[in-house]
Amino acid sequence: MNDDAAHPALPALVSPVSVTADAVLHSADFIRPRLLASGHDRVVLYAGVQINGTPHLGTNVMQTAAFLLARAARERFGVRVLVRFGALDNAPYETRRCPETGSLYERSFGYVLGAARVGELVGRYYGGFFDELSAATGVPYEVETYTDQQSGRAFREEFLASLELMDRLRWVLAPSSGTVPVSFPCPRCGWSQKHGEQTELLSAGAREAHFAAVCLEHGKYLVEVAPGAEAFIGLTTLHRNLVKERVADREDALPVIVKGADWAPGCRLVDEAFLCYPGALPPPRVFTPVVLSDSGAKLSKTLIRQGAADLSEATEPWMLDASAWPGPRREYARMLLGLVARMLSEPRHFERGYTTREVARLIGRRAPGPSGGPG
Ligand SMILES: [Zn+2]
Repeated sequence: MNDDAAHPALPALVSPVSVTADAVLHSADFIRPRLLASGHDRVVLYAGVQINGTPHLGTNVMQTAAFLLARAARERFGVRVLVRFGALDNAPYETRRCPETGSLYERSFGYVLGAARVGELVGRYYGGFFDELSAATGVPYEVETYTDQQSGRAFREEFLASLELMDRLRWVLAPSSGTVPVSFPCPRCGWSQKHGEQTELLSAGAREAHFAAVCLEHGKYLVEVAPGAEAFIGLTTLHRNLVKERVADREDALPVIVKGADWAPGCRLVDEAFLCYPGALPPPRVFTPVVLSDSGAKLSKTLIRQGAADLSEATEPWMLDASAWPGPRREYARMLLGLVARMLSEPRHFERGYTTREVARLIGRRAPGPSGGPG
């Protein structure tokens, strides 16, 4: 159906025919084949939240899509749904270089701030927003920090299982080097070698593994990883996602991974890693539209901070920092629900990216006039 017919008052949304045309009529249908095969009556959608700064529009688009996809799954398939957000409190809070070896060390948000302050950050950046999306869609949600996830028995068992398969996994999780580093914070000071280059696997089995690592202050220390042991497990991005998704696969629900489309190449590798496990199938994934700068690069906190994000005049401050939205949070959530619902109105509108200029046009913000001031 033509989008204009459904929304005659809004600026036209025009997208090229997508690869999935005629095969996929609604993006939630990506879930259907696995749901039919597994027979689950419950679907848990997994998405992420960054806690290393206020979210930008791209992050909020992905999260809004998670709620709307969950609602669509409930309506189309008659299943119970939940959106579960993983808060990446393992993001580096501070970084330091060892003067002797030149090795990079970091301490995480989770370690430096502690659970209570991480909880406050998540609440401040996302709490009200998620509550609005949840109320509007009737979809419940949960937030779980990486610190909590990695401490669980299932995570540790899956981490140990990945070590046992590492001869196969190493070239999938690190195709260029075959090296998949693991890092553990020093138990005395919390500094952790970012690339784990001096972390040594001493022994590994199904029940426990032993490592040696080096702190830039305290020298060598030993780490035991077992289902009941306390050591914090730091993994590379792909390895971490593999272990998290293996854990999600254990639940009595179909896990669905929702990520921005920039994740597609990385997920290709995680999928391949899944196939290294006997009889395992990777979870269904839904990729959401990425918000782009004028150059076609996705909005990135790092590039924004460096002033290298190539942003058009149509890029308003709230697109880079949601807390700058000039109005109540409810209005921001409503705006996003309307915008992402239009993106979801046809797969061709969902399987593409949007520049900040195009988002401004779609939500009826006029571009700045010739004087350069707001139009
Ligand atoms: Zn130390």
